[in-house]
Amino acid sequence: MIRQRTINKAVSASGIGLHSGRKVSVRFRPAPANTGIVYTRVDIEPNVVFRASADMVRDTELCTALVNDAGDRVSTIEHLSAALSSMGIDNLYVDVNAPELPVMDGSAQPFIYLLENAGIRVLDEPKQFLKILKTVRVELDDKWAELRPAKSGFKLDLEIDFNHPAMDRALQHYTMDFTGEKFFRDVSRARTFCFMKDVEFMHAHNLALGGSLDNAVVLDDYKVMNPEGLRYPDEFVKHKMLDAIGDLYMNVRSIQGEFRAYKTGHHLNNMLLRALLADAAAYRIITVDDGVQAAEKGRFIRETERPYGVVFA
Ligand SMILES: [Zn+2]
Repeated sequence: MIRQRTINKAVSASGIGLHSGRKVSVRFRPAPANTGIVYTRVDIEPNVVFRASADMVRDTELCTALVNDAGDRVSTIEHLSAALSSMGIDNLYVDVNAPELPVMDGSAQPFIYLLENAGIRVLDEPKQFLKILKTVRVELDDKWAELRPAKSGFKLDLEIDFNHPAMDRALQHYTMDFTGEKFFRDVSRARTFCFMKDVEFMHAHNLALGGSLDNAVVLDDYKVMNPEGLRYPDEFVKHKMLDAIGDLYMNVRSIQGEFRAYKTGHHLNNMLLRALLADAAAYRIITVDDGVQAAEKGRFIRETERPYGVVFA
């Protein structure tokens, strides 16, 4: 039986908030089985709690944000969500002292290192998967995203379409048979990206004040402005895949099926997950027996503690 996971001990981190530009602290704590991912705004008295779910995602403008009826929010959760998906972590308390998580380096990797430092604890309850039973598709203008049935595992196929001198046409399509190790090695370091002209607009409107070359790839009209260049030649499409993995894990159930998308983003990813969950005939919640479906084994980053900074061979 593939079982639920949490972390072994509490760990903390701090960094810059993408929106505010201010220092933000976050603390991750172990949670019991069937808790889900629970965010607590500890800067509000009394504290405000948000349980991650597709229908709590109510803002997808610059990032993915959970917003409650009172308008309180916790933003920029998608890269942590991708890290949790890749590690098979289903249960976690996330305490944050601001309306947003720290953006870290704009990728998922710092969160993976941090959570691995805490260690993984395997719980007794079986892990739940969303098995896709029929194709669900959403479209917006020329963009689309869909989930289709697959025999086992989680396959992703994503294409972006940017006409920019620094974005090679041949590197705008990426496919992956998802495993935690592949995600860690090939995708987790892909940073968010933006265009200088948009940065100027956002700053003029007091948005993305924490955005910098330390936490995003920034492109001017001709080139990548970051002096260190790209982390992967196809970092842009890989980041979009990272975002999709995080957005599709918003209900904290790992998908068993195939995701395909063209020019997708947070909004469309969330529309797709909502469309799936709204159609009871489109999915089934299953648990996975190791013996029955060996393909699911090893899908998540392995259970043993891995010391900080050690990269998979
Ligand atoms: Zn992102």
